[in-house]
Amino acid sequence: MDRFDAEFDLVVLGAGASGMTAALVAAIEGARVLLLESTSHVGGTSARSSGTLWIPQAGDASAGTYLDALVGNSGDRPLRDAFLAAGPAMIAFLEKHAGFAFSRYGEHPDYRQELPGAALGGRPLEPPAFDGRLLGNRFHRVAWPIRELMLFGGMMVTRGEASQLLRAFRSPGAALLGARLVLRHVVDRLSYPRGTRLVLGNALVARLFMNLIHRKVAVWFSARTGRLIRSDDRVAGAIVHHEGRAVRVQARCGVVLAGGGFPASAALREKHFRRPVARHTPAYEGCVGETIRLGQEAGGALGPSGEDNALWFPSSIAQRADGTTAVYPHIVLDRAKPGLVAVGSSGLRFTNEAASYHEFTRAMVRTSNVPAWLVCDRRFIWNYGLGMIRPMTFRLKRYVANGYLHEASTLDALASTIGVDAAALVETVRRHGEFARKGIDPDFGKGGNAYDRGNGDPSHQPNPCLGPIEKAPFYAVRVEPTPLGTSLGLSTNGHAQVCDAAGRPIAGLYAIGNDMHSVMGGEYPGAGAQLGPGMTFGYLAALHAVQAGAARAAPRGAAQEVAL
Ligand SMILES: Cc1cc2nc3c(=O)[nH]c(=O)nc-3n(C[C@H](O)[C@H](O)[C@H](O)COP(=O)(O)OP(=O)(O)OC[C@H]3O[C@@H](n4cnc5c(N)ncnc54)[C@H](O)[C@@H]3O)c2cc1C
Repeated sequence: MDRFDAEFDLVVLGAGASGMTAALVAAIEGARVLLLESTSHVGGTSARSSGTLWIPQAGDASAGTYLDALVGNSGDRPLRDAFLAAGPAMIAFLEKHAGFAFSRYGEHPDYRQELPGAALGGRPLEPPAFDGRLLGNRFHRVAWPIRELMLFGGMMVTRGEASQLLRAFRSPGAALLGARLVLRHVVDRLSYPRGTRLVLGNALVARLFMNLIHRKVAVWFSARTGRLIRSDDRVAGAIVHHEGRAVRVQARCGVVLAGGGFPASAALREKHFRRPVARHTPAYEGCVGETIRLGQEAGGALGPSGEDNALWFPSSIAQRADGTTAVYPHIVLDRAKPGLVAVGSSGLRFTNEAASYHEFTRAMVRTSNVPAWLVCDRRFIWNYGLGMIRPMTFRLKRYVANGYLHEASTLDALASTIGVDAAALVETVRRHGEFARKGIDPDFGKGGNAYDRGNGDPSHQPNPCLGPIEKAPFYAVRVEPTPLGTSLGLSTNGHAQVCDAAGRPIAGLYAIGNDMHSVMGGEYPGAGAQLGPGMTFGYLAALHAVQAGAARAAPRGAAQEVAL
């Protein structure tokens, strides 16, 4: 008989959105839950994210058609079906028990519009804003968003708010919104190191955290798990190093691995990624694959290695004043706007610049255009910004001085500064200008579908994504592939139970979020396609573990009646 120092029903490793969902659902179902976080903050990469969840509504039959077309045999069909069936139930559960009121984006096209079943909107959900002050002195425990994605060094805004703020000089409504946000921020900064009006992924994780506190879930920070304890052919606990002690923790219903995959492990990127291996990531530094290792040591198998084993952003890199590295993901704000081309060292375009971040980066790797350069003119930067440079920035000097932005008075000179074939770049820009005048990109189809156009500039015609690059000075920013998450993870079944190499579930062991092998087979169907499955399988894992625990506790015979 094992002796334990601390007894819980469910132990969850990793306080991102997936792990916190599992912990919360189990607590609401009456379980005693311990949430272990290896760093000193909750939130993980989820706290840095846009917080969008891709959850097709119940009855959206074409979502399955779309995933079949996109994922096919690269992913496990029963897992996809489990996700589609349980996603709406997970949302309803959080709305009923945890004060969430998600809003569905009416217009938010799926990323692969050319495939059958792709929707123009209705699948991605936005989390409600959250007032960080409700967390009291625990607010400082919520991990920060990416600093370069905030305003004034700490004010969060949604994408919709950002585009309204750009109209502040022209619209009284937008000016009022701007004044309200800034005033709140100024007041916040008298007492807090950053704004407390949280939106996007920070709002998602902060609300989950507040619910965990209210439900009295134990959260241990800076907790390192040495190994999982197996007993009677099941995972029954873990040895956890916490506050200078090695604690034997019982997990009566099981252990959930939710460590966020391995995007921040240089060694695992080297082992599992294609060449050239990504050097940076915008993902959270705690996501280093430790939990996947624990799962493997307990008998779990990795899923099949895929084309990339990661989901991608093209990012530009800069040194911050404090010496840390800023990894800025070019998600949707610049690439699809009219008046920009992406080229490799050949000076030639290699893909549709407005494609989703995952497909754009894949094209960089597939066509050997790493790094790539985003090339535009001054007017483009003024109108739309470029990476870390915001629209309507008067002085670009400091970006040029620190090497982030390259500037030249001719395209020839720009090409030689960035090491790109000059004649080819001049010809690329000329040809692209012709496409812009006609509104059609015969080479890569930029602006040819609703996804591209949605990220373009609707006021620019005939094609909101195609504009000329014509007026000096000219500019370039360097982008490279960076994983926003990893898709290679522990193999599971539809309850998120970790499976061994023979496909048998290991009792008491679950993997969710980026620790679970991608249910999408490494594909990226639309906005929220990471957090949606992550939280859904968190919900499913918790329900299964709690029911299994109840079944084991019940007298013989009764146990068999519990449907799992
Ligand atoms: C800028 C950006 C925007 C994004 N936007 C979106 C979006 O809108 N929608 C979407 O679906 N996806 C988005 N993504 C991707 C998404 O954020 C991640 O895929 C997702 O957050 C992963 O969630 P997770 O719960 O698996 O892990 P995480 O949120 O990363 O949490 C994992 C946690 O586990 C902890 N941990 C690791 N090892 C251990 C251990 N051994 N013991 C205890 N704790 C451990 C980590 O420190 C971390 O806190 C975005 C990513 C980025 C970078």
